[in-house]
Amino acid sequence: MRDKVLVVGMDGLRFDRLVALEPPVLSGLMAAGAYGTSLLPYGEAAAPRTESPGEIVPEDTAASGEDAATLGEGSPASSEDTAASGEVSSGRVIRSRTDSGPGWSSIATGVWPDRHGVVDNAFTHHQFAKYPDFLTRANAARPDLTTAAFFSWAALAEHGAFGPAIGTRFVLDGYAITWPTADKQVAAAAENHLASTGADLTFVYLGETDEVAHDLGPHCPDYTAALHTQDAYLGRFLDAIRGRPTFAGERWTVLVTTDHGHVDEGGHGGTSIEERTVFVIAARLSADLGGADLGSADVGSADLGGARLAGPRLVDVGPTALALLGIESDPACDLDGVPLEV
Ligand SMILES: [Zn+2]
Repeated sequence: MRDKVLVVGMDGLRFDRLVALEPPVLSGLMAAGAYGTSLLPYGEAAAPRTESPGEIVPEDTAASGEDAATLGEGSPASSEDTAASGEVSSGRVIRSRTDSGPGWSSIATGVWPDRHGVVDNAFTHHQFAKYPDFLTRANAARPDLTTAAFFSWAALAEHGAFGPAIGTRFVLDGYAITWPTADKQVAAAAENHLASTGADLTFVYLGETDEVAHDLGPHCPDYTAALHTQDAYLGRFLDAIRGRPTFAGERWTVLVTTDHGHVDEGGHGGTSIEERTVFVIAARLSADLGGADLGSADVGSADLGGARLAGPRLVDVGPTALALLGIESDPACDLDGVPLEV
């Protein structure tokens, strides 16, 4: 069996809304696979909330010291349970907004913002040369592997959060052509690539959920519609994978995650539970599950089925994808993330 991994990121997707809205494909992956949530170990309470997904926050408002969420004991933000904070030594303070730049950079690199250097959407002091994305790491460790990344937020390519060494990069600009259009074209390109090439490691970014939440908050019908649209794109990815002529000889694992949440009114950057809660869903599309009808999965809000991941963090996504491809993290890489048991 040849292992292959698809990582899908949906920007600004609040897990409680996902659970409440029961999008069929995501709900099916949760029921058949495993999932869990954790809290981002950062946020800036005093800073203004980002008002659009890619807004560049002036640096002087970005890090306001004592309002930073702290990992370990004595956290000033610790009315909230900093889940899975045990990996980080006590006193390590990560000063970063709960914005898209820091979130996706943490997902890409497997380290937190104090290491990858992205603390807001400006990407000013990024350290992607030292901490490359997990697709680039895969290419370096196993030059025989194929990698592909598709995104509607061009900043992720521009600043190298997902770097130029990735085999295929398909980049659109949601601001230039509207987010629904960009996501639709990104999804179509990814679907075609999964059906034909089917890279060993693929990353797909979809952004409309965040855009809508900024405009209208995550409780409006538009947010529901955006989530269901992205859910349908994900369903098409899975159909494309299952339709591959070589699928019987492949073992696909799908990981789905987000970069941050939103306050009820829309917006993020701060330290609230709603902004800091993120999730990881992991499911294997092995041949024995290949016939499952994801659309009819019986998923209620009380019991979502599936196994529970213990506090999966954004930094664990990359190491998990690499471990699934048989690539161990080199201790010299100094990663914060560890592979999830999926
Ligand atoms: Zn975001």
